[in-house]
Amino acid sequence: MRFSTMLLVAGSAALAAACGDRGGTNDPSVGADDRRLGAEQHPQLLAEFGGAYEGRQADYVEQVGESLAEAAGLEGQCTFTLVNTDVVNAFAVPGCYIYVTRGLLGIVNSEAELASVLAHEIGHIVADHSGRQQNRSLLRQLGVLAVGLITDSETLTRIAGQAAQFFTLRYSRKQEYESDDLGIAYMKAAGYDPYEAADMLGALGRNEQFLARTRGRDDAQGMPEWAMTHPLTRNRIERARATAAATGVADNALPEGQLDYLRAVDGLLYGDDPSQGFVDGRRFVHPVMRIGFEAPPGFTLTNSPQAILIDGPGGLRGEFGGGRLPPGGLEAYVAALAREIVGDAPAEAGAIAHATVNGIPAATLPLLIRTPENSVRLAIAAYAGAGGEAYHFIIAAPGTAGAQPALDELFGSFRFLSAEEARSLRPRRIAVVAAAPGDTAQALAGRMASDHPLDHFLMLNGRAPDDPLSPGERVKIVVPAGR
Ligand SMILES: [Zn+2]
Repeated sequence: MRFSTMLLVAGSAALAAACGDRGGTNDPSVGADDRRLGAEQHPQLLAEFGGAYEGRQADYVEQVGESLAEAAGLEGQCTFTLVNTDVVNAFAVPGCYIYVTRGLLGIVNSEAELASVLAHEIGHIVADHSGRQQNRSLLRQLGVLAVGLITDSETLTRIAGQAAQFFTLRYSRKQEYESDDLGIAYMKAAGYDPYEAADMLGALGRNEQFLARTRGRDDAQGMPEWAMTHPLTRNRIERARATAAATGVADNALPEGQLDYLRAVDGLLYGDDPSQGFVDGRRFVHPVMRIGFEAPPGFTLTNSPQAILIDGPGGLRGEFGGGRLPPGGLEAYVAALAREIVGDAPAEAGAIAHATVNGIPAATLPLLIRTPENSVRLAIAAYAGAGGEAYHFIIAAPGTAGAQPALDELFGSFRFLSAEEARSLRPRRIAVVAAAPGDTAQALAGRMASDHPLDHFLMLNGRAPDDPLSPGERVKIVVPAGR
């Protein structure tokens, strides 16, 4: 979450992504309609997923991507973007706009592995897997979205969109296989070792296992992002290896580009971006704004540039954001939020209640919005910052009144951070280091800024605990930034 883009921002890219138009299959050129649609959606998608991460790693992704686009017959027709989020994912939208996340670069170990991800996404474009029919029906199932459409509220549309954005890009197993096959063919044509596609799938699997082991019990229920959009199975890895063998290229006959990759990724920001704040399980802290809160058990938080997206049990959904406190104070701030959400829709507003939360002036407002089919309860809580800023939760609870204890706990957890606590929240980056003679995985893991150093080190580098390290061998470690 950033300061500048908080209150009233552009609507959901997930919605935009759900209404394209494209004919023909396996035609490698990008149509004018798709190109226009992709260009329109691009800034919205970027805003939803964390913004672009600029610099030499982004240039590198673009350069590798373009070599694969050429191999696919799409020279100069694709746009490759490195997204500034620690979520591990990659996705493609019509118009050949292809996105990989900073988090994904962290687990990649060679240029050919990166190439396999980009080639796979190009495969989804060439085979026209945008799957919009499926999206529409899924979007209709989201009651909150129906209310969002009736009220024309950008906030409600965004709250619904956080669930929709993952479903939007979900592919079938058949589509995954088809993209794997196309991607492996493009890798060979671009001169990359096609066996690295299977290694990359293995790295994604190791990342899933690492997250399942190390995330809290609540978070483990949530599927890793990559698995949500590109279902990963053991069979898919074996299949990718067989497909690589069927190209007639011997394993390791073509370059992996491991050193080039490690050189490119050295210094990359790792984990949360401090300017967006840190999400740690159910906890959110923002060292620059010096604020934080903790959601009750069963909730998950997602950091997006506009807001912290909140997902709770029983279909509870919402966001945390902020803005400037108007001259009318908290009461005027809450009223403006309610107006923005409700619009002209039939709604019953309760009374604004004032309170003090952890020493901070706060105000809450319950709302009930009715549609012909259902109703949605909304709760707004807002807080006055120390320097004229305001922060707020907006939570939608479709149809039920039973969510109040969880909401009270959430709303009561908002607090200011001490100067020491804010200072202790440092960004991290990837450092590529050479193993010294006698170095072990344990020794190198000891240099990691991580709660699970050895597991984390092995996952990032695709190593088993007893794999020997040769002197001079380069590996990735995660260190505090600025060191
Ligand atoms: Zn895929």
